Amino acid sequence: MIRRILITGANKGIGRAAVAAVLSAHDDTFVYLGARDRARGEDAREALTAKQPSWAKRIEVVELDVSNASSVTAASKRVEGLHAVVNNAGIGFADYDMRTVLDVNTRGPKRVCETFVPRIREGGRIVNVASASGPMFVAKCSPERQRALTDPAITWEGIEAIMNECLAIEAKAGDFAAAGFGGGNAYGLSKACLNAYTMLLAREHPALTINSCTPGFIETDMTRPMTNGKTPTEMGMKPPAEGTRAIVHLLFGEVGTGWYYGSDAQRSPLDRYRAPGDPPYGGE
Ligand code: NDP
Repeated sequence: MIRRILITGANKGIGRAAVAAVLSAHDDTFVYLGARDRARGEDAREALTAKQPSWAKRIEVVELDVSNASSVTAASKRVEGLHAVVNNAGIGFADYDMRTVLDVNTRGPKRVCETFVPRIREGGRIVNVASASGPMFVAKCSPERQRALTDPAITWEGIEAIMNECLAIEAKAGDFAAAGFGGGNAYGLSKACLNAYTMLLAREHPALTINSCTPGFIETDMTRPMTNGKTPTEMGMKPPAEGTRAIVHLLFGEVGTGWYYGSDAQRSPLDRYRAPGDPPYGGE
């Protein structure tokens, strides 16, 4: 049976590389290439099929803006019998306020999961593309906030409360550190909350395999502005194809559920950075 996989934000960067990685990894796969802009999605499909003409039958573009509930609902009507969803769409640090970052990076995957879970076959999977910025955010929080953000029994109300508290601090230009939220980095907060949501979703859907991961430090439109005149290699950035390793492992490999994985596809802790190659986290 064909394994149909939806990848959001797949018109460029890591998402587009993940389309190629999935199709190359297994012949029995089909990808719904999610893009908030149909034309950008079709361009990506064309670029991918120019390299591999046989992929033309295995990629369908689905218009999907994860920040828009009606767009998510409309997209869900276009897909059939899913094996998996990869919540890859995301925005970075520059030019966005905290509300927008949370709306795309945390609430976006939640919107997509709630709408698409009923369309995922039993035994299917969800991969949430988080970031090492998540655990790094948690590491800077107070012990109480750390416990809240890594509590295996966390609820969506608990996650909302944390996001709303941070939004209130931002609105009054308040002191994040005094409230136990370290530097109050919006991107890190959004990914820490995405990791917490991953735990909660896995708990609610034991028949599915649901995990999050970081792709690593990858050269894309999101990170290119960070180079400051250096080359991506000097910055330690890797090409997009290398950012798909954990995603592919979480889609097809032997994995746990409700866990967060490093870019080397090894389990990693939620409250501190684990470098690729370091011993895997054992859940202690
Ligand atoms: P890019 O900016 O290259 O790609 C982001 C993708 O997300 C684009 O396709 C973009 O679409 C899409 N997108 C943004 N907002 C929305 C939305 N509202 N609805 C649907 N799609 C949307 O970034 P990357 O490839 O680097 O990032 C992919 C994921 O990896 C993100 O979740 C990011 O946080 C994560 N990540 C990346 C790292 C890196 O080093 N690059 C490190 C850690 C995590 P459009 O083209 O229309 O803007």
